[in-house]
Amino acid sequence: MPMECPICGYARLGEALRCPKCQSALTMWKNCDMYGRQAYRAGLHALSEGRTEAAAELLLAAMVLAPEQPVYLGAYGRVLGKLGRYREAAFVLKKAHELAPARETKAAWDMAAALAERPLAGPAVFQDHQGMVGEMPGGEPEEAQPSATPEPATDQLPGSERPPDPAPSPEAV
Ligand SMILES: [Zn+2]
Repeated sequence: MPMECPICGYARLGEALRCPKCQSALTMWKNCDMYGRQAYRAGLHALSEGRTEAAAELLLAAMVLAPEQPVYLGAYGRVLGKLGRYREAAFVLKKAHELAPARETKAAWDMAAALAERPLAGPAVFQDHQGMVGEMPGGEPEEAQPSATPEPATDQLPGSERPPDPAPSPEAV
């Protein structure tokens, strides 16, 4: 992705370490850009190996290093969703959508927001930006409550008519 000068917006920086237009030093920005990209790639790799927790750490790093990259935010938000951290997922996906409005991002955000309100809902399918489909765990049954009425298999979409589950949300962090 072509980098713009973060100070003046000059777009054709090339490999210069100083912006030709405003003369700002760019070393730090370039390092953040590079490390952010590395963390993002490592995060996707960890995700592909099923190391979801590690992927979350790496994608968080990518987001911190390059907070204006909607792709990083989108990936991090989806991984948070996979981890059942729906509230955080909704927050991050909202930011991703604000940076780069996209239908899939909005759908993922809506789903995370809906699941955040209903922590005991069944597993839902999250589709990420690469077209991979991952299972999002429902509320982790650490204290599985024996319920007389079995939960119906839910692949619910946001906006279904069922009222929010009154159960408290699982530990999110
Ligand atoms: Zn500049």
